[in-house]
Amino acid sequence: MSETLRAAEIVRVSLGARSYDIVVGHGALSMLGARLAPMLKQPRVFVLTDETVSNLHMGALEAVLKPVGIRTHVLSLVPGERSKSFSNLEHILDWLLSTGADRSDVLVAFGGGVIGDIAGLAASLMKRGMGFVQVPTTLLSQVDSSVGGKTAVNTPRGKNMIGVFYQPRLVIADTALLASLPARELRAGYAEVLKYGLINDPAFFDWLEGNGADVLALKPDAIQHAVATSCRAKAAIVAEDETEGGVRALLNLGHTFGHAVEAANEYRPDVLHGEAVALGMVLAFRYGAAEGITAPDVAAKVARVIGASGLPVELAHMPGGPYEASQLADLMQQDKKARGGRVPLILARGIGQSYIHPDADLASVAAFLAGELE
Ligand code: NAD
Ligand code: MG
Repeated sequence: MSETLRAAEIVRVSLGARSYDIVVGHGALSMLGARLAPMLKQPRVFVLTDETVSNLHMGALEAVLKPVGIRTHVLSLVPGERSKSFSNLEHILDWLLSTGADRSDVLVAFGGGVIGDIAGLAASLMKRGMGFVQVPTTLLSQVDSSVGGKTAVNTPRGKNMIGVFYQPRLVIADTALLASLPARELRAGYAEVLKYGLINDPAFFDWLEGNGADVLALKPDAIQHAVATSCRAKAAIVAEDETEGGVRALLNLGHTFGHAVEAANEYRPDVLHGEAVALGMVLAFRYGAAEGITAPDVAAKVARVIGASGLPVELAHMPGGPYEASQLADLMQQDKKARGGRVPLILARGIGQSYIHPDADLASVAAFLAGELE
């Protein structure tokens, strides 16, 4: 075994009978065959991917399965969020049925969060549940969407509206696959990495402040540490609250502000989700400062560290603008947990000291946002 393989980190997601391993490392893909083989009754897997990932990396996937005698049936979707649709769900299920897939077979999601989300839903539905394995290929999917079992498709009435919780049996996060990712997609995924430090791990946030450039340069040790630490953080929260009845809501830090910006921008690609989350986290800390919850110098430090990685930190300069404070507050009001002009927000008393603030007053949020836009 090579040096890099020995260094791979295993993160266990503890969910009783549904527990599974996340294998994180530069070159971890090479462990897929040995890990998959014991799960299979027949030496074959079904692979869902998108055309970009297929062109770049399908050869590498097949090269690790061939030596252990595992054949592949591959379906490639058009890249992009629009592929997370009902019609593609039906298409995937029809493909699985037409190729004779069974409950004892495994569907491998090989791609970013779009592929992982729709593949997981398809696997859960196929004959009431076939095996599911994630091989995430974007930073966002390695640190976030491949962990925790949320699956979904979009409908014209909203994103991620239709889905189930369905845990994979294994996740292989090979950080070497990230080398082909566009820099902007990498940075957007990095926003979710920073989030874990801000939620409850101040030492990790400090480490990212010092080593973020190495993470974004994909230095093998740095990116592996960032991905493994992020997966451990999410796994711990998911193990405590699998279906978001409580503490899992902390993972929404920055997301209520961020979603408002994404929605106001009608989800156009000039604002990526991670970019909106980066700004949203800064806004959550600054709003906390405005409310006397967060020390102002802490909010300033958060903005400085996030900004240093090239992510947006100013609402007034956000692409897709100019935004309006009242419109953003109205969009926050549409949060399904909003009641009587109040909305739950994830705020923080300090770095790594986030908490669920149950009833932020949207009028004060609107006044704060108006100040940010001046
Ligand atoms: P994505 O899957 O659309 O991937 C982004 C782009 O990168 C695509 O164009 C893709 O083709 C390309 N790509 C993927 N891997 C590549 C590689 N190695 N090299 C070069 N290009 C590559 O998007 P994403 O950012 O990975 O995920 C976003 C999706 O994840 C959204 O649909 C979101 O709702 C979902 N999500 C789900 C969860 C969850 O818990 N299930 C959490 C967060 C986000
Ligand atoms: Mg997110």
